[in-house]
Amino acid sequence: MKVLVDYKKCLKAGECYYNHPTIFEYTDTGLPKILIEEITTDALRQEAEEAIEVCPAQAISLGD
Ligand code: SF4
Repeated sequence: MKVLVDYKKCLKAGECYYNHPTIFEYTDTGLPKILIEEITTDALRQEAEEAIEVCPAQAISLGD
């Protein structure tokens, strides 16, 4: 399972990379870079789900 970001929806609000820096990284464009290829642990999955909840643009999702 992967973390996906819909960059067309992203508002560059930053909640993902400020609150979940193990998964997301700030970039100069304001868009998040995804740091992990696959969700491999329950802890990462929980972090990803928290990021999905706080993203104000509903731009983050989990998928294959
Ligand atoms: S929290 Fe959502 S809107 Fe904010 S930078 Fe991350 S993906 Fe974009």
